[in-house]
Amino acid sequence: MIRLNGIDKIYNYKKENEFQALYKVDLHIKAGEMVAIMGRSGAGKSTLLHILGFIDTFEAGEYFLNGEKVEHFGDVKRANLRNEHFGIIMQDFALVENFSVWENVMLPIDFSKNKHKLNKKKTAMKALKSIGIEELAGKKVSKLSGGQKQRVAIARAIVNNPDIILADEPTGSLDSHTAEDIMKVFKMLKDMGKTIIIITHDINIANQCERIIELSDGKVISGE
Ligand code: ADP
Ligand code: MG
Repeated sequence: MIRLNGIDKIYNYKKENEFQALYKVDLHIKAGEMVAIMGRSGAGKSTLLHILGFIDTFEAGEYFLNGEKVEHFGDVKRANLRNEHFGIIMQDFALVENFSVWENVMLPIDFSKNKHKLNKKKTAMKALKSIGIEELAGKKVSKLSGGQKQRVAIARAIVNNPDIILADEPTGSLDSHTAEDIMKVFKMLKDMGKTIIIITHDINIANQCERIIELSDGKVISGE
């Protein structure tokens, strides 16, 4: 499904403050896998997730998505591929606090080219229902607990029915009990056939995945 060959990521490329965040990263992720990416703070985990989800570009290497080589695609095509294939859960939820739950979950529908635009609320409700939080639909996000916010962020990530879920430290700000509940949601999505890539610091979370990819100082040191 995803293959990276020799990816280098260099921030501020060719400027005096350039910084290489990834070195020759090779990675292979199969459809339906549930994979953890581990590593210390600054190891390059978020950078790698941004590259996987077409949020950021890279300076060298090859990226194949479903066998198609994507590194020379322009911004529009990259955005389309992102919206079609990826549901992304950013660090710290990235929800609109003064919107209701369903209004947040509905947001990505506008970026998709799909048919259900006409009934956005219904589509948002369906995503909420599949995560088991339809009763929160009308609540303001600012009124929710951390675990509830993370579920809303997951519902928003799946609203366009992506096949790959990328999650950046999805349990990082949650207590261990709530973190386990969130892992149950990811396992359910895996059972629905989705490919799940979770960045985590927490070995207990990583051990619940089928494979652990370890990053250190911008290099994959195991699990690729
Ligand atoms: P992690 O998610 O593993 O904590 P990151 O991928 O966020 O690590 O960052 C990897 C390295 O790249 C860090 O040293 C960080 O300071 C640097 N970095 C991240 N984003 C930028 C940026 N936009 N410009 C310059 N350096 C960056
Ligand atoms: Mg990070």
